[in-house]
Amino acid sequence: MAYLERAQRYTADGMVAYILNLPKTGFKANPSSGVVWNPVGVVMHNTAGPDLKQWAAYSQAQREHWGDNLNAYYRGMGWHSGPHFAATPEAWSYVLCDPMADGIHDSCRNKNYFGVETMGDFAVGKDDVESPAARQSIGSAINIIAALCVRFSFDPDKAIDFHRNCRRDGHPCPGAQVTDQFVLGAVKRRIVEITKQPAPVNLGPLHQTTLPPAATPLAPMIILPEWPLEPDPFFGLAGRSINKWLSFGVSMPFALAMTAQAEAESSFRVAVVGDKGTAFGVFQFHGDRCAVILKNTGVDVTKGPPIEKQIEAAWWELNNVETVALKNISAAKTANDAAIAACVYYERAGASMAAQRRGAMAERWADYVQSHPDFLKSNPPQG
Ligand SMILES: [Zn+2]
Repeated sequence: MAYLERAQRYTADGMVAYILNLPKTGFKANPSSGVVWNPVGVVMHNTAGPDLKQWAAYSQAQREHWGDNLNAYYRGMGWHSGPHFAATPEAWSYVLCDPMADGIHDSCRNKNYFGVETMGDFAVGKDDVESPAARQSIGSAINIIAALCVRFSFDPDKAIDFHRNCRRDGHPCPGAQVTDQFVLGAVKRRIVEITKQPAPVNLGPLHQTTLPPAATPLAPMIILPEWPLEPDPFFGLAGRSINKWLSFGVSMPFALAMTAQAEAESSFRVAVVGDKGTAFGVFQFHGDRCAVILKNTGVDVTKGPPIEKQIEAAWWELNNVETVALKNISAAKTANDAAIAACVYYERAGASMAAQRRGAMAERWADYVQSHPDFLKSNPPQG
């Protein structure tokens, strides 16, 4: 885990001093791949939620604990680390995760880019980028990016990237109102200012805070079911599930979303019977649905057929009975949104936070697929 024990808050100058004091050696290894972090650039994001209106409505204590809440949320999703920094409209911004280790924030560039969040939603028609809060928030992100460029000798033209360029993630970060050209120009100006300043005093040990922490309760966080240890058959079934869904021509977010439903309903146990003997198989189909499925597809889900057959049954339902669900899952651009749609429109799971939890579970699979390049290849659909 590379989350800081407490998210740290620094003023703009404090942040520059912190970053310029980061060691250039001693980077840490990714816990899954064992590959040592070797940062070559910075990806800029915006939070979208909260936007600046929501942020303004937060109490001071909520703002000062947002970073810890975010880290707790990502930790709950099973991520080993999240974005490294978050710029805010306050006089201070956050260091969230250890800059000496890789973080998860952009599936195209997690391996070797720092992640910098920017508080606000800068899509067209959302937060006004000319407002004082937006200027401060974006300015804080520019400050962080510029300091990273100075410290690690990044050429801004080559090393600064934007999450929107990772097409498979489908995030418009940092929003169309924040253009590449604006960011590059502003970062270059800030680099000039930083390099003219006298070298910052050595701050001593990393991760000191410039502001005293205040105790407030954390927001509710999502706890995900724990995965068995590899190589449990659980993983093979998940891979076969994702592949089977993809074989219908659906998007990756769709395939991950439906796989998360099966995981949540049954942990991929094909013959499991639930709800006091009335729900069957990986999707926990109820008896009345089982009869309709059998009549139309010849698949008897009450007998625990292979996961591929049960997915064919669900695909038939989506195309013939659950077309509203099909439309909503198909329209989602991210695994998170697709899984929320699948939970709300198809599974209709009633537990509190069920949809959000399944969204996070689908994202966990997205990250797993991303960090295990051979996973889908080695688990082709069977039958
Ligand atoms: Zn992003």
